[in-house]
Amino acid sequence: MNLEIKNLNMRYGEEMALNELELSIKGDKAVAVIGPSGGGKSTLLRIIAGIENPTSGFVSVNGAPIDYEEKKLREYRKRIGMVFQAYNLFPHWTALKNITVPLIKVYGMHKDEADNAAITMLKHFGLMEHAGKLPAQLSGGQQQRISIARAMVRKPEILILDEPTSALDPQLTKEVLDMILALKEEGTNILMATHEMAFAKRASDRLVFIESGKVGGEGGPIEFFNLGMSKRLDEFLSHVFE
Ligand code: ADP
Repeated sequence: MNLEIKNLNMRYGEEMALNELELSIKGDKAVAVIGPSGGGKSTLLRIIAGIENPTSGFVSVNGAPIDYEEKKLREYRKRIGMVFQAYNLFPHWTALKNITVPLIKVYGMHKDEADNAAITMLKHFGLMEHAGKLPAQLSGGQQQRISIARAMVRKPEILILDEPTSALDPQLTKEVLDMILALKEEGTNILMATHEMAFAKRASDRLVFIESGKVGGEGGPIEFFNLGMSKRLDEFLSHVFE
C-alpha cells in the first residue's frame, strides 16, 4: 500500500488527538501501528478509513487524495475494509446475513450473488459451520473472524484493523492473529493497530510508533526493535517487554 499523510490534525475540543502528523508508506504490505493508549492510533486509522474527517491535513491512499466530502467518502469507503475492536456484528442477524446485508444494501448486489460471495469467503476462512449462527452463539474469536471475512468479501485495497484482539483472551486472540497472518501471506494490504508486539514484529513489513498524536519512530521489524530510534519508543518498548 501507499500512504502519504501530511500536516494531519485532529482536534476534539481542547484535545489534539493528532498533531501535525506526517507519515509516508511506500509499498509495504503489512503495517502495524503501535503506541501507548490515547496516543492517536485509532483516530489515525478512522481518518485513513474515511469514517472520520480530520480537522485539517492531507491524506492520500494509493496515489489518490481522500476528499472528505460526504458523497465522495461514501464511494471511498468501498475501497477499504474495516474491523474494530469488538461488537462488529449485528446481534439479531446470522453470521451469513451479517456479511450479505451490506453487500445487498451498500453494493447493490442481488441476494443470490451476495450469498455466493459470502459463502465463498466463509469457506475460504474455514468458517462455513458458523454461517447460520447468531453472534451470541459464537465465541469472541469466531465473531471477530466473521467480521474480518465480512471486511474482506469485497476485496478491499486495504484491510484496516483497529486492535482486533484487545477484547479477546489469549486463546481466542491466537485464532484471530492466525487468520490475519494467513491474509498477509495471501498478499492482503493490512494496516493494523495492535498491542500484540510479538505478532507485530513477526507479521509486519513496517511498524509505526504513534504517540501524542505524532509519529515517534518507524521502521522495518528489525530496525524498529533495535533501541535508539527515539527515546520515547525505547521507553515504550522497555515497558512492553518488561
Ligand atoms: P489510541 O487509539 O492510540 O488509544 P485514540 O485515537 O483513541 O488513541 O485517542 C487519541 C486521543 O483522542 C485520546 O486523548 C482520546 O481521548 C481522544 N479521542 C479519541 N476519539 C475521541 C472522540 N470521538 N471524542 C473525543 N475525544 C476523542
